[in-house]
Parts: sequence; C-alpha cells; structure tokens
Amino acid sequence: MSARQGHKGLLKLAGVAGWPVHHSLSPFLHNYWLKKSNLNGAYTLFAVHPDEANYAFQSLKRTTISGLNITIPLKGLAYGAADEVTSDARKLGVCNVLYKKQGKLIGHNTDMEGFASPLLHHIGHNFILNNTVTLIGAGGAARAVLGSLLALGVPEIRLLNRTDERAKQLATNINIPSLYACEWVKRQQAIAGTGLLINASSAGMSGYDALDVDLSLMPDDAWIYDLVYTPLLTPLMRKAQNRGLRTIGGLDMLIAQARPSFKLFYG
Ligand code: NAP
Repeated sequence: MSARQGHKGLLKLAGVAGWPVHHSLSPFLHNYWLKKSNLNGAYTLFAVHPDEANYAFQSLKRTTISGLNITIPLKGLAYGAADEVTSDARKLGVCNVLYKKQGKLIGHNTDMEGFASPLLHHIGHNFILNNTVTLIGAGGAARAVLGSLLALGVPEIRLLNRTDERAKQLATNINIPSLYACEWVKRQQAIAGTGLLINASSAGMSGYDALDVDLSLMPDDAWIYDLVYTPLLTPLMRKAQNRGLRTIGGLDMLIAQARPSFKLFYG
C-alpha cells in the first residue's frame, strides 16, 4: 500500500497557529461546522513560537495536516514561508491561511472577504457609498479593511493610528486621494461627522486598554464596526450603544473569514 493510500480515511486535521493562541475562538467554529457537516475532521490550537514558525510551516508539507489559520504575530512569517501566495494575500503582504495544493504550501488571506461580508449584510453598500469612514489601526487587520473599503468605493477614508507615523506610511504607500492620515491627538475632529467608525486596532481586546475615543460628535445614524472579538461586547461597542449608535462586533467577521478556510481544509 502506498503512503498516499495509507493516509486515506484518516481524519482531516487543521488548526490555528499563533503565539499566544489560547484566546482563539476558531476551534469552536470549525469543530461546530465539522459536527454539523458530519465530516471526519478535527481542528485544534497550535502554539508556534515566531522563531520556529518558518520551520513549522514548511513541515506542514510532510504531515497530514490539511492547513492552518494564522493569527498574531505569525501572519507575515506565514507569507514568507508560502511557496505561492494568492492575489488576496499579495495585496496585503500577510497570510491568515496556509493550505496545501499539489505538494505546495499556498498562502491566502480571507480577511478582506471576512470584513466585507458583515459590512454589506448589516450596513449595506448604499450607506458605504454615501458616508465618510474613519479607520483606526495600521496593522495587518487595518490593511485588510482598507483593501475592502477601497474595493467597495468608499468616498473618503480618514486613517488614525496611535503611532502617527505608521498611519502616514500606510496612506502614503496606498497613495490615493480618498485616503488620508489624521493625527492621533486630533482624532476627535477626524471622528466628528463620520458615518462609520472602524476599530482595526487591538485596543479594547481583553488585556489591552480600551480605545480612547469620543463618539459624541458622530451622527445619530452612524455605525461602529469593532474587529475585536474578545470580549464579544467591547468597551467601544458599549460606549456606542449607550450613545444610541448601531454596532457590529468582531465575531461576525471571525465567522465570515473562517468560512472560506473551512472549505479549503475539509473540502
Ligand atoms: P497588529 O498588526 O498587531 O496591529 C495592532 C494595531 O493596534 C496597531 O495599529 C497598534 O497601534 C494598535 N493598538 C494597540 N494597542 C492600542 C491602544 N491601546 N490604543 C490604540 N491603538 C492600539 O494587529 P492586527 O492583526 O492588525 O489585529 C488588530 C485587531 O484586530 C486585534 O484585536 C485582532 O484580534 C483583530 N482582528 C479581528 C479579526 C476578526 O476576524 N474579527 C481579524 C483580524 C484581526 P501602534 O501602531 O501604535 O502600535
């Protein structure tokens, strides 16, 4: 019996790699979908130290693991370890999924799709086309949000980041007139009058400081979209709801970005 035949019928194993990784909700989602679909598979946590990440990712090709979701701080390292990257991953320069195809390790990114799906579902394209958006953050998640917003044709994006230089750099790299960086100290002016405020920073995550922003000058019909999902109801969402604003939490995006990776891992 060949090695290939020998692996037939084995349960399909996938997981999420990060450092730390214990906070990830992905195993709950994937194992729930596996059970619901009656598939012979399992999904688990892999704590991978950044110093060992390249070796661990390369080793995937010699295991029966179907693929991995990648979380903080390994997304850039996953991009570097991939034999090939998809166009979505190339746009962002980071991967949140690694999977195997014909013996090669493919790097992909489902964050743009994952961000856009709840946005369009809850807020709708018309609102997006007719409102200014303020985006907070300049890391990997912010880049995915920008990719989605630009593809959706948002008329004006104000970019804020605690470290101003990173926001300026990101806006300069993308270099389109509808996107510009604002100073962190002047964030209240940037947020005033904006129809949609997106938090793509880690602020508000369990163990991190809450996001220090004032929502009082936002229009009454404005939306807040917080990518943070631990806790499910973040301090920013609570503040917005007390002010009567509508909110989307990070869980919606987590589910939407996990769906395509489930298909890649389990068929
Ligand atoms: P990252 O690359 O490490 O970037 C972190 C960003 O957060 C930086 O811009 C950093 O600003 C900012 N930041 C950290 N603490 C802050 C604070 N106290 N106040 C203001 N800004 C602060 O992380 P990432 O991959 O972009 O992820 C960011 C967040 O999005 C995380 O909470 C992550 O869990 C979440 N996320 C959620 C989903 C989902 O599916 N819902 C998907 C991806 C990411 P500086 O530049 O000043 O350090």
